[in-house]
Amino acid sequence: MNNARDKTRQIRIGTLSLGGGSPVAVQSMLNTRTADVTACLNQIDALRCQGCEIVRVAIPSSQHLAAFEQICALSPLPVVADVHFDYRLAVAASVQGAAKLRINPGNIGGFDRLNAVLDAAHAADIPIRIGVNAGSLAPRYQDDRRLSLAEKLVASALEFTEHCALRGFEQLVLSVKAASVPDTLAAYRSLSRELPEFPLHLGITEAGVSLAGTVKSAIGIGSLLEEGIGDTLRVSLTASPLEEARVGWEILSALELRQRHPYLISCPSCGRCEVDLIGIATKVEQRLKEVQLPVTVAVMGCVVNGPGEARRADVGVACGRGQGAIFKAGKVLYTVDESQIVEALLSEIASLSLAQTVEPN
Ligand code: SF4
Repeated sequence: MNNARDKTRQIRIGTLSLGGGSPVAVQSMLNTRTADVTACLNQIDALRCQGCEIVRVAIPSSQHLAAFEQICALSPLPVVADVHFDYRLAVAASVQGAAKLRINPGNIGGFDRLNAVLDAAHAADIPIRIGVNAGSLAPRYQDDRRLSLAEKLVASALEFTEHCALRGFEQLVLSVKAASVPDTLAAYRSLSRELPEFPLHLGITEAGVSLAGTVKSAIGIGSLLEEGIGDTLRVSLTASPLEEARVGWEILSALELRQRHPYLISCPSCGRCEVDLIGIATKVEQRLKEVQLPVTVAVMGCVVNGPGEARRADVGVACGRGQGAIFKAGKVLYTVDESQIVEALLSEIASLSLAQTVEPN
């Protein structure tokens, strides 16, 4: 499909390529204290295991720069320096191992300060994200009653991007986030039309706690990705960053853009179901969190849709009265008692994993 994502400029964030048709990258932000280097590195490693590809670390003050430098030196993932208010922190981070800088036009100060950040990023050969956020727009935009929120977000991004271009700095990623899904969609669609060459970082900011935040992010980020817009995503949840990475991958899997983790298909169950399907599916979902294989698993309640979905999946079960027929690669293998369904599915998934390990490339 010919889409906006294929036409953006490709930039590098550490060893990762972003934009220009590269796979949509999943990122998150640490919620450990930056000064606690061990806790930060542990969380980075846990995020890496969840498929997170870029991590962002807050630098609240100059007292956190030494810790930030250590985190960058030891992190297995590219680290983005998240800086607000004090441009000097961004300048310092650029020589301390940051793979990218994230600054906010609404609070980084005037263009003279931005110039210092641009020059530092240029010298370090790292990109910058211009992260415009509805909650921290510059006062001149906040007070402008002629513009909608989406127009304000885009105007701020355009203003900063044009200044960066005049300064000869174009290694930019842009974001225009709001907590409202419609405002965010309008802003990104407009930005993608106005500046098609720049990679876009997608997100619904302050999306909320787990369920509401996941729904908003899936609709907002998912809609844009489906339209071909967006090169990287961060799901912002009032929850663990690990959950953010998981939801990010679920969005990519649901759109069939990328798959890394198992993809679970399960029916809602109904009056025809004669097993504890919700219990079985919940246990399978829990156990699949440990599986690092892009396998599709179907857990189905009866013969109505069960055999069809189970046959289409890599591994599946179609349940009947107190038992389940186990499918693999489109064929029924055997039938087990309800109490053995979870283990049987996991065992068949493990055999797929083993086959993938021993198969030559
Ligand atoms: S597959 Fe069977 S149990 Fe599941 S929702 Fe459909 S009819 Fe009901």
